[in-house]
Amino acid sequence: MIQMGGRKRKKVIKRMRKTIPKIFACPNCGEKTLSIVINREEGKAVIKCGRCNIMEGDILVSYVEEPVDAYGKFVDRYYGGGKPVKTNEESGKPSELENK
Ligand SMILES: [Zn+2]
Repeated sequence: MIQMGGRKRKKVIKRMRKTIPKIFACPNCGEKTLSIVINREEGKAVIKCGRCNIMEGDILVSYVEEPVDAYGKFVDRYYGGGKPVKTNEESGKPSELENK
């Protein structure tokens, strides 16, 4: 007997959850043109400003975190390499921002 219809289709389950870009204020140019898209599969947030083109694609986010959390991390990194900036300490004054 010949078996018919033997083409097995691979079941490909794609969980393509569309992430809606969130727009935040850009720490670099100050405009509300900073889009944050969270890649849940990689656990990273991709941040990009449509105005000054500042970009960060390496912000780690956990499952419970949202774009606003990624935004906070991005701002922290932007101003102080991930360290919280303390302004109440005379010795640890953050250097003035460079305007390029
Ligand atoms: Zn910008």
